Amino acid sequence: MLFDNNETRVGPTGVKKDLFLMKGRNDKLRKGKRFEIPEYLSNMGLNAYEFSAGRMTNFSDTPIYEKFRANSKKFNVAISIHAPYYISLTSETPEIYEKSIERLAKTYAWAVWLNAKRIVVHPGTYGKSKIKRNLIQMIIDGINLAIEFSKDLYPKLKEKFKDICLCPETMGKLGQIGTTEQIIEICNEVGTNKTRPAIDFGHLYTRNIGKIIGKNLYMPVFEKIEQNLGKNIVENLHIHYSKIEYTGKGEKMHHTNDSNWGPNIEPLFKIIKEQGYKPILINESPELESDAKKLMDLWKKMS
Ligand SMILES: [Zn+2]
Repeated sequence: MLFDNNETRVGPTGVKKDLFLMKGRNDKLRKGKRFEIPEYLSNMGLNAYEFSAGRMTNFSDTPIYEKFRANSKKFNVAISIHAPYYISLTSETPEIYEKSIERLAKTYAWAVWLNAKRIVVHPGTYGKSKIKRNLIQMIIDGINLAIEFSKDLYPKLKEKFKDICLCPETMGKLGQIGTTEQIIEICNEVGTNKTRPAIDFGHLYTRNIGKIIGKNLYMPVFEKIEQNLGKNIVENLHIHYSKIEYTGKGEKMHHTNDSNWGPNIEPLFKIIKEQGYKPILINESPELESDAKKLMDLWKKMS
């Protein structure tokens, strides 16, 4: 079925320049090239990669990305892309709202050029506006408009856009839109043939100010998704994981996976195994691929 995963996948959201080395001539190590990322990750036993376009404003298809696409298939690495952070589908400034829709529309082409099947996007913030606006409706409308606009902008790519799933993400700060319920509502309204939740459990942990931990953090989320969006969606989720420090307002900063902040990964892996889920799990800790590898090693041991 559309957006299904054939196996549980683990990968990072970027690679570290000083670690990303490949064998060159005479087996000497040399710096890796961007299109070699799938091979590099596959050599580490990883099978997913999230390309961060968070701060990118421009992107165009080049021979490098042609090779990147080919390598993602050859080395069986599932690619996703994180849409730019400056997209704001709740902006009260009409120009910013319109620009955000255009930028989100363009991200669909970026995804095709990377062979990315999932686009992760931050829904928006509450802002300081005193004017009463239906923010969730603005997000739903914005996504629908972006999907239509993407086809107008890139008529030659529009068939390929049907294979791409937009994943609004659960967010870690109380001032951001992105509870599990809100993300479910957005996906329900736009339709699960176009959108699926991106569940960031680190964010949900900080949104709850660390009060909900262990199985209780994870299981109710999976149950709500299954009840409202269906079994197929809960079985093939996009998941972000890392340990995150919080304040009274929620998320403060990401830490490495050996830190004492939460959430712990073991209860999540236990549920994934028991339920037979096949998520794509992206490690968002600062130790990108090394922590992703530790997660994959642990998953292999537990599954
Ligand atoms: Zn994010």
